[in-house]
Amino acid sequence: MHNTGRIIRPPFEARSTYLQVTCGCSHNKCKYCTYYKNISYQVSPNEEILEDIQQLKDNGYTFKRIWLQSADALSLSTKKLLEISKMIHEKLPFVESIGAYARVDSFKNKTTEELRQLKDAGYDGITVGVESGDDCVLRRMNKGYAGRDILEQMKKLDENRMKYTLIFLNGLAGKDPKHVHATKTAQIFSKTRPYRIMINSLKIDRESLLEDEMQKGNFTPMTDDEKREELITFLEKLETDTFIDATNSTNTIKFFGKVRENRDEMVENLRKRKLKQKTY
Ligand code: SF4
Repeated sequence: MHNTGRIIRPPFEARSTYLQVTCGCSHNKCKYCTYYKNISYQVSPNEEILEDIQQLKDNGYTFKRIWLQSADALSLSTKKLLEISKMIHEKLPFVESIGAYARVDSFKNKTTEELRQLKDAGYDGITVGVESGDDCVLRRMNKGYAGRDILEQMKKLDENRMKYTLIFLNGLAGKDPKHVHATKTAQIFSKTRPYRIMINSLKIDRESLLEDEMQKGNFTPMTDDEKREELITFLEKLETDTFIDATNSTNTIKFFGKVRENRDEMVENLRKRKLKQKTY
């Protein structure tokens, strides 16, 4: 199987079989991210993808879901994505759905009708690394889109009833006593209908641009306690009913629940767990 760089998938996709269709990230400019720092973005040729699909077939075991690598496979054109799904379904008829990471702007080059075709072709359960709904934070972190883009693009997924996960990056604004990042993100997310919101907690990588900013005194990270308080604000302001998944390893306090049914319990749990240590 072709594989360039690290295999990066959300934990809930750990059982999906992966298939490389791009390598690197088409954006590769987010200040806090070093995942694909030294990898130049490339789209895999169909011959190479077909070779890997054939190898999966030859391996002989059946699986229901495929995860397309790498950072933003959904940024590929609709035509290319439909070619990929056709190859998958022809060779691996037991595959029921295809997942991948997307950026918010991965959907800009796709109409609602194209997204319907992609859903019909099996694309579902897309994980969108939104991170924030606060325009200042998005600009500062070089995310390449604004809050209004999140609304425009997620509306297309909602219209097609495409299942998706949004990521909230806890602590991304640095010191933020008024919790503007949490409030604005909750406001934007509340206007969408995600299946799940995954909580990631910001860890500053030593080789990231954000680390440079921190060294220059331009970014002051939150302590774990401040992140915990920010997360409480995010949960309290959220109005969309969805699963909250804070079970991955970046989170100091791990929890999972549904907004409508478990919000009080989740908030109460976070309130009780005041942390002492300072980390970033
Ligand atoms: S956070 Fe996502 S979009 Fe940004 S550089 Fe990293 S992989 Fe690319």
